This record gives sequence, structure tokens and C-alpha cells, in this order.
Amino acid sequence: LSSGKDDIDRKITSAMEKLINIQRMLLWDKAKKEGLSPIQIQILTYLNGYPKELCRVSDLAVEFDLTKATVSDTVSTLINKDLLVRGPGIDDRRSHTLALTHEGKVMVRRISKWTDTIQKKIALLNEDDKSRIMLFLMQLIKSLHDDGVINTARLCIACDNFEKNIHPGDDRPHRCGFTGKLMSDRELTIGCAYCKTGKN
Ligand code: SF4
Repeated sequence: LSSGKDDIDRKITSAMEKLINIQRMLLWDKAKKEGLSPIQIQILTYLNGYPKELCRVSDLAVEFDLTKATVSDTVSTLINKDLLVRGPGIDDRRSHTLALTHEGKVMVRRISKWTDTIQKKIALLNEDDKSRIMLFLMQLIKSLHDDGVINTARLCIACDNFEKNIHPGDDRPHRCGFTGKLMSDRELTIGCAYCKTGKN
């Protein structure tokens, strides 16, 4: 028999696994309807949200923990579907940046709805629960990043630019050293293009 603590640890892990499976199912469903694979959807969504200096094959390989060869194949397929184009490199001419075509942007608008099913349920939670859950998930991602399980965190709390609680007691006690912006807990960022962690 497991102890109470072990039991709740296992239940949280099982609940997260179930959510991951539900998310995968929703993504597959959307992918099938649009004639795309799940990784093609994730790459299009990523390229829609990040600045061009983070839109090279090597950036995608790090973000999705794939080999450059796998990413290159996927990118070629998306180019053949007229959803992506290769642009010039930024400092390294050999390394092209990738950009969405008009058709690619229209596609992203359609596929971005795949997360709505879960997001609508989250919207029903009370605000304190939402903040607690958000901070818990950010901490969990950060610790997995610290342990080297994932390559990128893209979170304020994992970022070298993050100045935690520099104004204790204020509504916005934290500061981004990169932009100078003050932040409350709720305003902590996930998916920030400028996150710097010593590993990236
Ligand atoms: S650079 Fe981005 S991730 Fe880092 S502290 Fe600033 S907003 Fe947060």
C-alpha cells in the first residue's frame, strides 16, 4: 500500500497524463481535419508566435526536441503545401529563417482553435485557483528544465533576466531585466521569445 503522500503524488501525475492524452487526441483530431500532422501544426503555431531570429530549423529542433533532419523534412512538406517559405538568414547566411505564407497564416487562425476545448473549462475556475495552478505548472516546467529533461523553458521564473520580488509587497513585485517591465505573479510569461537561461 502506498502512503498518503505517495498516493496524491501518483494521482497528480495520473491526472496530468490523462490531460496530456486528451490534448493529444484534440490535436490529432484537428490535424486529421486539416490534412496535417500534429508536428506540422505545432511548427506552424510556433512560427506564428516567435520573432524571425528564433525561426530557423535549429530553433525548431531545440523547441520540439527533434533532430534537424526531422524538422527539415517537416519544413519541406509545409513549403510544398504553400504554408511556409524560406527567407534569408540573419547573421549566418547559411541558416535560413522560416516564415508563414498568407495561406499559412490563414491555416494558423483555423488550427489555433484546437486548444479551445480545454481553455473554456479553465476559464470557469476561480481566479485564485487559476493563479495557483499556473504557478505550480511553471515551477514544474522549470524543475524539469533544471534537470535537463527539456531543452527550453521560455518562462520568466527560469530566465536569467528575471528579477524576482525586487519590490516586495507591491502589486507588481517582479521585473524583467530585458524589457524593464514590472510584473505581478499573474503576468509572469510563458513562451517568451527572449527568455535566456544560460542553456540557450
Ligand atoms: S526576457 Fe521574457 S522570460 Fe525573461 S524575464 Fe523577461 S519577459 Fe520573462
